[in-house]
Amino acid sequence: MHPKHLLDRYGIEPKKSLGQNFLHDEGLLAKIAAAAELSFDDDVLEVGPGLGALTRHLCRRARRVVAVELDQRLLPALEGELADCDNVEIVHGDVLALDPADWFTAPYAVVANVPYYITAAILRHLLESRPRPRRLVLTMQREVADRLIAKPPDMSLLAVSVQYYGKVRLVSAVKAGAFWPRPDVDSAVVRIDVEERHLWSAGEQGSGGAGETTEDGRRTTDEATPVARPPTADRRPRPEAESASADAGGGAVPPAPPPPRSPALPPDPNEARFFRLVRAGFSEKRKQLKNNLRSLGLGDEAIAAALEQAGIDGRRRAETLAVAEWERLAEVVADAQR
Ligand code: SAM
Repeated sequence: MHPKHLLDRYGIEPKKSLGQNFLHDEGLLAKIAAAAELSFDDDVLEVGPGLGALTRHLCRRARRVVAVELDQRLLPALEGELADCDNVEIVHGDVLALDPADWFTAPYAVVANVPYYITAAILRHLLESRPRPRRLVLTMQREVADRLIAKPPDMSLLAVSVQYYGKVRLVSAVKAGAFWPRPDVDSAVVRIDVEERHLWSAGEQGSGGAGETTEDGRRTTDEATPVARPPTADRRPRPEAESASADAGGGAVPPAPPPPRSPALPPDPNEARFFRLVRAGFSEKRKQLKNNLRSLGLGDEAIAAALEQAGIDGRRRAETLAVAEWERLAEVVADAQR
């Protein structure tokens, strides 16, 4: 059903402040779900399920979908629309306050038509948390998508922060007419495949990674609506055999226990020093790298030596460096600081 009619049925007005632009092109929704290449072993996080249009596609392709929605008014509509999807867990709360370790024990997929006002904050929050997503397929503002897929000499702190974790590619452009209400901007679907080394290496939680970028709409978890821990009953997925016997009238099915919480992992020093360097490099726009790196507390000679050893001309600007160059420089700088 068209989102306008569905909202009318539940007596809800869309809220611009929550980025509520609902997708109503079934072909596009199917394409987004397909781009995630899900299997029945996959657990999925959907940010902002809205009225459940994308969720319906995801629940047919994944083992389990955790759908986190901030707007309480949408919950009855979601419950109603997804009543026949028994592998979906609807969670009320702010995704920026969600601890993935409460919901997932292994790398998971994220598929979402994200609320645009917090796109960068969502990326930052999920990529810094453990377990990390293995793959993200996100519909976002075209302008942000272009920044994510940028290459030297047009890199930004956001591009480096995301490309550090994995490969980013454009899946599809999306016209404003695919949404209701129609947004003022064009959109795009982006896929990020996180590299294996960032999925299983020694823990990175709290590393200060892509963290302290300044992005529009940034909010801290202090301001966020808390997210409940997983319930022990209701809407938890049932193993297939159990579902079948229950559906066949085989008696009450005991609720599945919540997944065990992933162990807290120590910060990864490599990641922390990488982001310290990159933030220093981007600290002042249009300044040469050798000047911006002074904020690391190294003398001019040590900076010049490190840049030379890494094979990077200190007169270059941060926007011109590829992720591999930042990684090389981070290693050399770490050696110089030892
Ligand atoms: N998935 C639906 C679709 O594609 O039609 C709705 C997408 S709409 C662009 C964004 C959704 O995110 C809205 O339902 C909105 O209420 C929800 N949202 C906004 N801020 C949120 C937050 N901080 N945490 C979780 N959901 C949020």
